[in-house]
Formats: sequence, C-alpha cells, structure tokens
Amino acid sequence: MAAHTPGKVYMHLPRYAREEGAPDMMDLLRQDDEIWNLFTRKEEYEKPDRDQFDRFSYYQSGHRDVFVPRASQMLVENGFSPEYPESRPFVICLSHDVDTVYQPLHVRGFEAAKALRERRFLDAGSIVRQLNPRKCREQVFEEITGLEDSYGARSSFYVLALEKGAREYAYPLEDLEQEISTIRKGGWEVGLHGGCDAYRDFESLVREKQYLESVLDRKVTGYRSHYLRFRVPETWELLERAGFLYDTSLGYPDCVGFRNGMCHPFRPYDLNRDREISVLEIPLVVMDRTLLLHMRLNPERAWDRMKRLFDAAERYHGVITVLWHNEFMTGDPLRFYRKILEYGREKGAWMTGSHEIAAWWRENGMRMPKAP
Ligand SMILES: [Zn+2]
Repeated sequence: MAAHTPGKVYMHLPRYAREEGAPDMMDLLRQDDEIWNLFTRKEEYEKPDRDQFDRFSYYQSGHRDVFVPRASQMLVENGFSPEYPESRPFVICLSHDVDTVYQPLHVRGFEAAKALRERRFLDAGSIVRQLNPRKCREQVFEEITGLEDSYGARSSFYVLALEKGAREYAYPLEDLEQEISTIRKGGWEVGLHGGCDAYRDFESLVREKQYLESVLDRKVTGYRSHYLRFRVPETWELLERAGFLYDTSLGYPDCVGFRNGMCHPFRPYDLNRDREISVLEIPLVVMDRTLLLHMRLNPERAWDRMKRLFDAAERYHGVITVLWHNEFMTGDPLRFYRKILEYGREKGAWMTGSHEIAAWWRENGMRMPKAP
C-alpha cells in the first residue's frame, strides 16, 4: 500500500530539487528549440484554429509523435531522476470527472434492450430492477473507491460546482456532501471540475471554487476543466491567481499521449511574459472516451496503446494520468479500468490521486545531479 496522508492540505508550491551548480530544468529544455517549443506549447500561441469546445486538438498539432515524451526523455538523459515512495518505478495518477450523477431513464431502457439482444439476461434483469429513478444514480463514489481500495489505490474526483440554471448544470453539489466527506476521510481527493466558462473567466472560476469550498469546508487546490477546455497560457494564469496548486487538464481530447512531451509534472512556462507559472501541471495522458471511442480502436488495440504509454512511464520514471468518468464504470470500460489497476499492481506502480502526487513533487521534485 502506498503511504497515504488523508486530510492534509499542501499550501506550498512545488520546487525542483537542485544541488548547487546543477543545471536548471528550463535552461536545459531551452537548449533544443524543437523540444522547447513542444514543452511550452508554442504552436498553441500561434494557431487560432480551435474546435467547437474551444480546444486545441491533436489533429492541429505539428508534433506528431505523441507517444514519445520527448521533453521528459531529454531531462532524464541529462540526469533528472524522480524517485517515488517505496522506490516504486512509476506512477499511475487516477482520476474521475463527475459530469453526471443521475442517469436519464431512457439510457437505462436502451441498455436493458441491448443486453436482451445480446442474450445477457442477468444484466438485463439487473438493469430493469434499477429503473426506479431513486436508484438511477451513476456509479459515483463508493463503488469506485471500493474497487480502488482493493488494489491499494487512491484517486481524485473532480466535481462540478455549478449553480442551478448555469450551462452544463447537472446536479446540486449538496447531494454529494455525505459521500464526499466519507471518501475524503479514506484518503481520496475532491477537486474542482471547472464549468464551461471557468477556463477563461476569472469570476466564474472563483465562484465555483468558493462554492465547492463551502460544501467541503476546506480549501480546494486541484483543478480539471470540463471537456478539457483550456487556453495556453491563460488558463494556467487564472488558476494561479485563484490560488490553485495544480491543474490536470493538459491532454488532447482526440488522442491519448503526451501533449507537451512531458510524462512528469512540471511548472508551465509563459512565453508572453517570459516566466514560470506557479501552478503544477500534472498532464492528462489518457481519457476514457478518447481511447475507447474517439480513436476508434478495438479493445486489444486500445490496450496496446495503453501499454506503450505505461512502457514510456516505466522507462522515464514518469506519471501517467488516467481519467475515467464515473458513468464509464460499467461493462467493457469498467473491465478496461480494472485491467489498468491490475497492471499497475503487477508492476508495483504508485497508484494515487493528484493531491498526493503534487505534495510528493513539492517535497522531492526531480532530483538533478551536479554538473560534471
Ligand atoms: Zn467533464
């Protein structure tokens, strides 16, 4: 079991441990133009084309080899060596975005019909029994935490903190109060799943943060954007101003992999103002929908991609952030998630939430050797 420190709030910013005379991480990355441009996401400053959710997609990127963490590779080859608790070889950062809590009845009806067609009579029966709307809740917390606990894992849940009437409003946060409190005591994290405007509007961001803090009765330090809406570098700057310690939204919606060539947490660099931003980015690498729907892979090929990412993380002692929505914790996607947990246990990976990784990074960072 990984070491857990439930209930602890980390208010300090991450630093990179550096011996006197050792090279600076940014200086090193800057030595290679191509890697520096990839790391800073320079192309996102220059290309105005974005999709309908105001996102920069992989298909627009000039950096095609998204399975190779080139920036991390360069750092490791120059002596950076992150170390994790109990000498674990790499990290699987587990997370769930809670977009929905109550499932519409027609979805259940559709699932029951599908199960009958496929002659899965037991499944159909259990779906029909759940047609009572009071029971039509998505897998929210207990089932997921129970599963993760059986693998010695923890994770982060990002919840929407929207007021009734807001765009994308899905549930009253108060409905989750009891469950949130229970899982937090067990070492799981609850962070903010920023709504449709929060990634570009400071007031929305702060309002949602304060609403969640009032329900949790504590500071909120972690962030993930709904639909992965993100603007480089504006969203990081807003998060910094609002007092977040980390973000974990930087992944492509249309392809899994390393969007800025990093398979490690890092402090982003703002090219407009020529400075480091004091928010830790724990880049998102795999989103369930991306891997299982958008990339149109069969389960074997999807697992093959997953393995390539894990192999890279193992080679460079990296962090693979995985996002599995609570409504995906059923059927084939649930089996896939279980396979990730099994693989992580087999490999001795540290499987935990972003809060613990951010805290660990602050204390330890990437060790850098002295220059020869
Ligand atoms: Zn979402």
